[in-house]
Amino acid sequence: MSICYLNGSYQTKFDARISIQDRGFNFSDGVYEVMSFSNTKVINFQKHINRLNLSLKELKIHYPFKNTKTLKLILNKLIKLNKLNHGFLYLQITRGSASRNHLFPKITSPNIVIFTFNTKIDDKHIIDGVKVNLTSDKRWSRCDIKSISLLPNVLEKQNASENGYYESWQIRNNYITEGSTSNAFIINKKNEIQTHPANNFILGGVTRDSVIEVAKRLDLKIREKAFTACDIDTCKEAFLTSTTVRILPVVKIQKNKINNGKPGLITRKLMSEYNDFINSQINGKY
Ligand code: PMP
Repeated sequence: MSICYLNGSYQTKFDARISIQDRGFNFSDGVYEVMSFSNTKVINFQKHINRLNLSLKELKIHYPFKNTKTLKLILNKLIKLNKLNHGFLYLQITRGSASRNHLFPKITSPNIVIFTFNTKIDDKHIIDGVKVNLTSDKRWSRCDIKSISLLPNVLEKQNASENGYYESWQIRNNYITEGSTSNAFIINKKNEIQTHPANNFILGGVTRDSVIEVAKRLDLKIREKAFTACDIDTCKEAFLTSTTVRILPVVKIQKNKINNGKPGLITRKLMSEYNDFINSQINGKY
């Protein structure tokens, strides 16, 4: 039976209960993180904590743990209780439970839910790459906050799937911002790795950040500048990143085949180096 963490106690997922007045439930008034763990070790932990802190601060939600170490202990205990070596952690913090009123409640404490889950990445996606659709970005202009309000993302992901695509890359003011569940990259005609800058129009992906770090170590050129659909027409390679899939090659964007429909060499190199980067965290090198 899967064990989750709820406001200070460990319970089976079946037994865990939360108020119908939880502000996450009523207003999407909360934030979340998805982290991966391998060999029981949480990957890119500090980067996730930095983003969680930013999201909480922007929504003026109190950081509910004594310190980062306390949270780490909870995550480690949860991994242990669930007897897992590899998988993912979902952490959600809402403003708390209170009578329904848009105004922040004066007295409440955040509701914290953490559970483990697993998802298998399709080997075909890793080997052959994925197809991406282009759609308009219908989200608000604080996409840097990892808010639990994900309706536009849910609709875009569903729309992509119904049309035979793995992901939708969203366009705002002519520029590709990011996917509905991942960050978007191209290798442009100058052989630079190009991606939208980490500002309020995208979620600053932890994987995005780490991939940039890895690319710099490989002496690859990074250009954090938004690209357009025209840049896609002339790009050499493309890929997407997220915690759950790491790096996936993008081989077709709408009708446009990228690199003749095959994962590119730079993408492959980054995939392999990124796996090493993660393995070295597991082995304690980082
Ligand atoms: N952008 C969006 C909109 C996302 O939902 C995600 C995944 N949570 C990402 C980017 C990738 O972020 P990360 O690498 O931290 O998983």
